[in-house]
Amino acid sequence: MKLTFPHMGNLYIPLKTFFEGIGNEVITPPYCSKRTLEIGTKLAPEYACLPLKINLGNFIEAFERGADTIVMAGGIGPCRFGYYCEIQREILKKNGYDFEMIVLEPPKKQMLKLINNIKRLLKKDISTLINSARFAWKKAIILDNLERIISKKRAMERKKGETEKVYKELIKKLENISEENMLEKFSVEIEEKLNMIEEDKKVPLVIGIVGEIYTILEPFANLNIEKQLGELGVETKRNIYITDWVRENLFPKFLKPKNLNEIIEKAFPYIRHFVGGHGQESVAQIVNFSNKNFDGVIHLLPFTCMPEIVAKSAIPKVSKDYKIPVMTLVLDEHSGEIGFRTRLEAFVDLIGQKKEEYILNERLFGSGYRVS
Ligand code: SF4
Repeated sequence: MKLTFPHMGNLYIPLKTFFEGIGNEVITPPYCSKRTLEIGTKLAPEYACLPLKINLGNFIEAFERGADTIVMAGGIGPCRFGYYCEIQREILKKNGYDFEMIVLEPPKKQMLKLINNIKRLLKKDISTLINSARFAWKKAIILDNLERIISKKRAMERKKGETEKVYKELIKKLENISEENMLEKFSVEIEEKLNMIEEDKKVPLVIGIVGEIYTILEPFANLNIEKQLGELGVETKRNIYITDWVRENLFPKFLKPKNLNEIIEKAFPYIRHFVGGHGQESVAQIVNFSNKNFDGVIHLLPFTCMPEIVAKSAIPKVSKDYKIPVMTLVLDEHSGEIGFRTRLEAFVDLIGQKKEEYILNERLFGSGYRVS
């Protein structure tokens, strides 16, 4: 059995660590590229969401490298993710691919099925399950922390491109770490390397990124938005990181983040009910980011994403009520980098001017003044 799974940002690193730790051979698909998307777009229905198309491309590229088993997360709720696996299985089988698919359903609804599928994947004794999960989890935490710091560094670096170079080196190293006890030393190395990046004194603008999870986590799907904003001198903070995805999708309820409900409640005046995916959370996080004095928010969604379309309809009101600029960007296989960059630059200019106006007014009229 040679396992593969979809690429979603750096999630492949903890996933590979976990599945190898419990005794599987893992074939990671190559990084998402134009080819990946072209393969998926040819096979998927035109109206399918962008992540499904990229995932199909991932699987076929992994099959070309010898993979024969797909591991996918399942889903429940009113968005298409719930039948994603079945659609992908059908499309791939219809196109002549011979493989097995193991779906890890969320524990909330299908605990027994989840346990049985984990048993199928467990090729060593039960202790390796706990040890590998812990090892993978620690890698995920390191990745999340690294990505948070990198975003600030990119916006403040003196020598353009230096942060990106260090980031790529560190990611490669983390991927190759095979012993849990090496992680502590590696964390020290991260700190040392990042401290060596020279910073400008200026305070960067801060933009929150909210929206559909795959589009947020996979740089290919979001045209590398965080790197692009970093180049424009902007620090980004997402509403979701890898550990959040794991907690939400694979952990039982009692291990979910305690403050999640508190945050979700902020969306109630605009969206009262769960609408699938992260639609409700996107709205809630805009309120949350505004309360934290972020300079703006970018809302990302793939074309035809149902939960985020619901969120999009509520966003103009949230933006007006909380006086925070929000730009929605819809992505699909036709999205072009040049037009995308132009929109980012225009948005950054706008919030930069707004911030200057705010600082000026604060000097003139005292703190607490807010530009409408
Ligand atoms: S959240 Fe959006 S993009 Fe993701 S599966 Fe659901 S509809 Fe598709």
